[in-house]
Amino acid sequence: MALGWFKKKAPDEDDRSNEEQAAQSGEETPDREIDALDTAQTAAEPDMQADAPAEPEQASSSPDQEIEAPPEDMTPPEPAPEPDAEQAGGFFKRLKNGLSKTRKVLTTDIDELFTGKVKVDDEMLEDLEELLITADIGVQTTMDIVERLRKKAPRISGPEDLKEILKDEIRALLNIDVEESREPAAKPHVIMVIGVNGVGKTTTIGKLAAKAKAAGQEVLIAAADTFRAAAIEQLSIWAERADADIVKHKENSDPAAVAYDSVEAALARGKDLVLIDTAGRLHTKVNLMEELKKIKRSVSKKLAGAPHETLLVLDATTGQNALSQAKLFNEAMDITGLALTKLDGTAKGGIVVAITSSLNIPLHYIGVGEQIDDLQAFDPEKFVDALF
Ligand code: GDP
Ligand code: MG
Repeated sequence: MALGWFKKKAPDEDDRSNEEQAAQSGEETPDREIDALDTAQTAAEPDMQADAPAEPEQASSSPDQEIEAPPEDMTPPEPAPEPDAEQAGGFFKRLKNGLSKTRKVLTTDIDELFTGKVKVDDEMLEDLEELLITADIGVQTTMDIVERLRKKAPRISGPEDLKEILKDEIRALLNIDVEESREPAAKPHVIMVIGVNGVGKTTTIGKLAAKAKAAGQEVLIAAADTFRAAAIEQLSIWAERADADIVKHKENSDPAAVAYDSVEAALARGKDLVLIDTAGRLHTKVNLMEELKKIKRSVSKKLAGAPHETLLVLDATTGQNALSQAKLFNEAMDITGLALTKLDGTAKGGIVVAITSSLNIPLHYIGVGEQIDDLQAFDPEKFVDALF
């Protein structure tokens, strides 16, 4: 079963490898480079409007001043009445449903390319190139794929044939080896969750907590996004839903202190897993990165080696912007893994291909809906099968 690592003493090496890894070594980033995050974030905002209204960046860097308007509604969605995840194959079904928009581009639209044609010609390859770019596989990757298809064109006899070849191409790109090192299991295992505002950090933490609980782990959540009271409230709802402990301080309190206290509490209470929620936006990107680094330092002061993972959450609907965000956060924070959310809300599912083929950071989780069981361990084989 995927996510077997959550089980205590789970012996399955493959499953464990997803989560138990050391931080990759990285370099400190000059502040001016972090400023470039502004571009990524601004461009990403149209897709996030419902959850995180845009607001002007202020020149002020006073750490206590709140500049962020609270999102319209951060209340986690009510649980679905009859989750079908219990059924056999429910997991794959959710993945398939989640990827339906992208699948339409890659299957129905490819079928249409063959209307009135029996052979692959240049015009068809051009149209295919457009489809792949629409799915956000990335321009260079798309061009490479299409070039290889061109060579195989005389042997391609119809849409099914073309899809099979395309599937192989994508599978090869998804399986690119990423260097992952292991760490001995720690108790508690501490995961710090970071990412820009609205990408789905809090939701992903709720889902991760529920999975860990279901696998018999004791979980504690740290409300280290102290920027807005609403954020703490939203996390509390998720904690309750997942039956996890939560450590929270007052709004605008020091996030590093919350994180420190949470690890202390987890040690005292014998918890297995600590999930640290963080803010996605402060007054400047430099402030944000500095704050995240400070949280990290304070956690490691309480527990050497922690945080054991730094999980960056990215929003699939932002397409290529997700890639820029990953690069910028990684320069400052040594990301150990990625979670890609909202694949259900976009036809840009090809971003998974772009991410796995161009970043040297493993994709650990994908989000395919708002419900508590809509987070899945990323499995390249299943992903390709669900995509076509
Ligand atoms: P944060 O600001 O990074 O903590 O983001 P939130 O966790 O508050 O999520 C922002 C919005 O995205 C919420 O409305 C979530 O319900 C929604 N969301 C998160 N993950 C997913 C997902 O996988 N699919 C869909 N459709 N929505 C999601
Ligand atoms: Mg949040």
